[in-house]
Amino acid sequence: MAGAVGGPRVLLRKLREVMAEQVTAQQRLDMIVVLIASNMVAEVCSVYLMRPTNELELFATEGLKPTAVHKTRLRVGEGLIGDIASHARPLNLADAQSHPGFAYRPETGEEVYKSLMGVPVLRSGRVVGVLAVQNRTKRNYTEEEVEALQTVAMVLAEVVAAGDLINLNELDGATQTQRRPLHIAASPFAEGIALGHAVMHEPRVHVTRLIAEDVDVELERLEQSVYQLRGSIDDMLETEDLSHAGDHREVLQAYRMFANDRGWLQRMSEAVRTGLTAEAAVERVQNDTRARLLRAADPYLRDRLHDFDDLANRLLRQLTGVKLSSASGNLPNDTILIARNMGPAELLDYDKVRLRALVLEEGAANAHVAIVARALGIVTVGRADAILDSIDTGDAIIVDGDAGDVYIRPTSDIIDAYSEKARFRARKQEQYQAIRHEPSVTSDGEPVALYVNAGLQVDLRHLHESGAEGIGLFRTELQFMVAAKLPSLKDQIELYTAVLDAAGDHPTVFRTLDVGGDKMLPYMDVAAFKEENPALGWRAIRIGLDRPALLRHQLRALLTAAAGRSLRVMFPMVAEVAEFKRARAFVDKELARLKKFGHPVPAHLEIGTMLEVPSLVWQLDTLLPLVDFVSVGSNDLMQFLFAVDRGNSRVSNRYDLLSPATLGFLRFIVTKCRAHNVPVTLCGEMSGRPLEAMALVGLGFRRISMSPAAIGPVKMMVRSLPAGLLETFMEGLYGLPDASVREQLADFAADHGVVI
Ligand code: PEP
Ligand code: MG
Repeated sequence: MAGAVGGPRVLLRKLREVMAEQVTAQQRLDMIVVLIASNMVAEVCSVYLMRPTNELELFATEGLKPTAVHKTRLRVGEGLIGDIASHARPLNLADAQSHPGFAYRPETGEEVYKSLMGVPVLRSGRVVGVLAVQNRTKRNYTEEEVEALQTVAMVLAEVVAAGDLINLNELDGATQTQRRPLHIAASPFAEGIALGHAVMHEPRVHVTRLIAEDVDVELERLEQSVYQLRGSIDDMLETEDLSHAGDHREVLQAYRMFANDRGWLQRMSEAVRTGLTAEAAVERVQNDTRARLLRAADPYLRDRLHDFDDLANRLLRQLTGVKLSSASGNLPNDTILIARNMGPAELLDYDKVRLRALVLEEGAANAHVAIVARALGIVTVGRADAILDSIDTGDAIIVDGDAGDVYIRPTSDIIDAYSEKARFRARKQEQYQAIRHEPSVTSDGEPVALYVNAGLQVDLRHLHESGAEGIGLFRTELQFMVAAKLPSLKDQIELYTAVLDAAGDHPTVFRTLDVGGDKMLPYMDVAAFKEENPALGWRAIRIGLDRPALLRHQLRALLTAAAGRSLRVMFPMVAEVAEFKRARAFVDKELARLKKFGHPVPAHLEIGTMLEVPSLVWQLDTLLPLVDFVSVGSNDLMQFLFAVDRGNSRVSNRYDLLSPATLGFLRFIVTKCRAHNVPVTLCGEMSGRPLEAMALVGLGFRRISMSPAAIGPVKMMVRSLPAGLLETFMEGLYGLPDASVREQLADFAADHGVVI
């Protein structure tokens, strides 16, 4: 049986010589087919390249009739060559002509050749052509020969790309959908419109050094890098900070498993032994994975293949020294960042000035990266299905954070429409700016205080820019989440002092740590957090009461920072009056301690609670006499009321908050608070949406707290609202049997000129 002459290494060495010659790409291709044919002892070697028409055109051949070159074309799926392209997998046939897929092309003169071995030519997992050898006799090509041909196909892909033999950007079929304008319906996470260019958070590495000079050196490099990769994943799992919590941890665990997969390393080592550099070998194996990934319909399988793909990317970055985009420093001014998912700390590593938008393939609206993105005013969408496979660095992209739409390589009419939309938004922003210092009072004279939600130092400027009354919710956990280690007492005092300094006379409500569940802290016992239902688990005040050191430290920091001024503190996730009492007792203890040591204390202190667990609503008569204020956390309250996971997009919008159930429930709270003369605020996401905010005013809320960007639109709404009329109108809604009264409220707004 015939075999390769001198093996793949000799072939690769000769290929390197061909690559170095000063010839055109077509000439190079012609030389390569001759070389392969003689090295593999084949009578025929042909290269077919993909055309934008989704056809494979014969570009070069040794053995078939030269007149067929640039004439013979096969559709993807047609004949054996088309079969290889459509499945992106090799074919190895001793008796090709008896294969049902065989398509005979008389102009090529191939009728005399019995056996065929062909492999796809892949670039970044996309089929750009097919490379095939044929023999007259019924020949059984060995697995090694198939491997060798695949390796050569990789070098060929570079010749094709470097020589502009075909326009890779125009390819059709599976490939061209990658380059065509594409619309992805994603989920809106942070509002706004952004036009810009894609930057991959984890950039793809294009390997240019393909052929090994010294195979042993390359094997050593590969092994070293896999070793380092395994080490870095172990490190990440051990010191995993909050930015890598939740889902990410599972991903890392899967990574660890795959990184230790022997088959994977073996396949890469074999590729090196055929004469490739370590990085080319990683890419060779990755190409196979990508090709399978692009065709896998099973979501579970896709996830697993994604893991391998991510791992290969890490390896490639390690081997070539390519860094994450945040570290590269040269971002375009209109960067739209694309990532599978990321933690808040990773986002904070980017230069905010250049960042227009963030697009996540995964993620959830209330995930911390989304909260941080909102705080930073970065337009964000998530759950952008398969975006990583559809986009490349530098592609034009439009992100609509209001509707959740993503347009990749948009057509000019989409660009025009969105440019207009962006201008419209800018004009609106000007209008909001114009009323920044105007009072937030309804058209019939009812003041409605608007506050901002905050949690990072970068948020503080929004307080003044937005013209809000104060900070209605300061989420203290964000400092803990973005830090790599537990913030010290001093760190906490510094932040709280900065917040109070920036707020000046504007009231600020600090909420004590709301961590646990999915908001993991690295310095806590991770095993204790493995929970089936984290939202219902050991979190927030439950941790504070069970492990009081953390809570007491935080209270000490707050009391110290507010020395001589006003301090407002509230507790998250309180479910019963007894919990509030115990938490409050810690404040008194810390206060007494400071006084005992002669430290200054706040001049004025108010202690309240979040109202976000339904059980507490049924204890208002006993709770309210004990608190200075309450703040309704509608995100959690509604999650528990309707039993819908707020982070699960399949159900989170299933029930309308503008329903008799919600409104009646909130009305009950307002009535109780009024009767007890206790101020009540609502600080969930619903207060930032004008129609929802209108309903809240109609229910009797006179304080609402929201993301800073919502202040303008909500104030516009307030100033145009006849609150008394709405209150009367809403009396008729509470008893309706409808699932939603959104339409009735929208009609009211339209009839009364309320700006929504
Ligand atoms: C809420 O639950 O509504 C709330 C404001 O708190 P968080 O979103 O931080 O849970
Ligand atoms: Mg909450």
